[in-house]
Amino acid sequence: STLQEWRPFNKTRVYMSDLESALHYSLRVELSGHISISGDDLIALKKYINVLAKYFPGRPSVKSALKTVDSWLQQQKGVEIKYSDFRDVLDNTVQTSDAVLPEGVQWVGCQGSQAQFRGYPCAVWTLFHTLTVQAKEMSSPDPQEVLQAMRSYVSSFFGCRPCATHFESMAQESMDHVTTLSSAVLWLWSRHNRVNNRLAGELSEDPHFPKIQWPSPELCPSCHGLKKTGEHSWNQEDVLTFLRNYYSSARILTDYLQ
Ligand code: FAD
Repeated sequence: STLQEWRPFNKTRVYMSDLESALHYSLRVELSGHISISGDDLIALKKYINVLAKYFPGRPSVKSALKTVDSWLQQQKGVEIKYSDFRDVLDNTVQTSDAVLPEGVQWVGCQGSQAQFRGYPCAVWTLFHTLTVQAKEMSSPDPQEVLQAMRSYVSSFFGCRPCATHFESMAQESMDHVTTLSSAVLWLWSRHNRVNNRLAGELSEDPHFPKIQWPSPELCPSCHGLKKTGEHSWNQEDVLTFLRNYYSSARILTDYLQ
């Protein structure tokens, strides 16, 4: 029933349309399920928006919308906020300036071969890899900042609750060991591969986008090596270089932007 036009895209690139669509979906759809936000959820929201305001490598108008919401949120000193007030700040910015987060979703690199596949969860991963790489590019002072923001956002708000439980147990196990911006980039990469490994062959997998240990040898030949035993090994230095290039702000494609 949801036949829609296929948007041709380059599988080796990141699309701004996916990143902006992830923002729209998280801030206008996922969050709107919470009429009021307080306690740990409010802390999580503040951290998430703050990280987006600092590191989202977007168009000036989108960055300025995020900064407006961030400064409003930092001023909220009460124990709770109403989602409707948050939403007014997010949407009303359009009247006072050119600050605006486009409405609606337009998946490009995160398109699925059918409507139930990919889309938002794909774009959440893409967003967070991009943010860890951006924090590295900008030499952020706190190596865990982006990961902890992602962790608490997922725990408080991510609609897929089994995903949130799985992610939290990985975070509890080893996120505290991250001490550099580079190891934050690699931590998220290796946990994402664990998730890929767990989900490979499941019904939730889009047959046109099989879950692999990423990046493939085609995408990054030098990332792959062999141990003396013949077992596969990752060349982490090359993986880091690859990720910093793949998710770099300079390479994000702006095709299909609204
Ligand atoms: P995705 O896994 O969403 O990846 C998106 C894109 O990222 C890929 O197309 C590729 O370009 C790139 N990529 C792939 N692997 C890596 C990597 N290792 N490092 C960097 N980039 C990479 N679904 C479940 O069914 N159960 C779960 O427990 C679950 N947990 C999740 C936890 C989180 C935090 C998130 C964000 C999602 C989770 N999901 C889970 C959803 C699932 O991981 C996929 O997002 C979804 O199945 C769509 O898959 P996809 O093919 O679009 O690729």
